[in-house]
Amino acid sequence: MVVRKSANEAAAGDEQVSPASELRSVACPKCAQLLETPVVTTLLPESAQLLELFAGTLNRPTCPHCETQFVIDETLVYRDAESAFIAYLVAMPEDGDTSAIEQEIDCMATDISSSEGTERPTVRVAFSRSEFIEKIALHNGGYDDRLIEYTKLQVMKNLESEEINHRQHRLLFDFSNEDPDIIAFIIFDRENNQPVSRMHVQRDDYDALVEEFTGSSQLMLELDMLFPSCYVTCDRLIG
Ligand SMILES: [Zn+2]
Repeated sequence: MVVRKSANEAAAGDEQVSPASELRSVACPKCAQLLETPVVTTLLPESAQLLELFAGTLNRPTCPHCETQFVIDETLVYRDAESAFIAYLVAMPEDGDTSAIEQEIDCMATDISSSEGTERPTVRVAFSRSEFIEKIALHNGGYDDRLIEYTKLQVMKNLESEEINHRQHRLLFDFSNEDPDIIAFIIFDRENNQPVSRMHVQRDDYDALVEEFTGSSQLMLELDMLFPSCYVTCDRLIG
């Protein structure tokens, strides 16, 4: 499976010889002409490719024949060896059942650590680019994404109305926010994936939540039970 191949490359360490991108022949979705374009599959911290991901330009070539810009949907792996963090972007299975992928990635993380005798990396899976970016941004910002998802749940409960509700909307962490006193979210319409509004919570409230959880082994155990796999999303809690 694609996931395993990428993960093995990702786990191969800094000496890995596999390139971060490969030249590939892809068909333009509009005019069907083939073009040769580099496709990135592995991302490292502070790399140019990571900046491209955040800017929305990664694996997004322009067709030289008809000038259409299009996204190449590709499995991506982000690997931060220093902080033992790996995130995957994989395609959502057609039947929507993610359990096999989650299990595969979780097992792999355990295998990597036992074969190398290292700390088990924190692993996350995302099924859309926006979620993938969110996972990386949260990790790099020093957040516990589980407590961010927990916070989203509380926020959605408070916002619940005709206009804004969980069935139609989802929250995404706004990594472009520069105000250190708040944690900002963008409210997206699930159907057309367009932003409809913004909201924020106080940073102090999040910090208090972190303190409450980290200060209680019982609460941390409950957090593990709320998010038992590498697919950490508040959608799971709302059902
Ligand atoms: Zn074209």
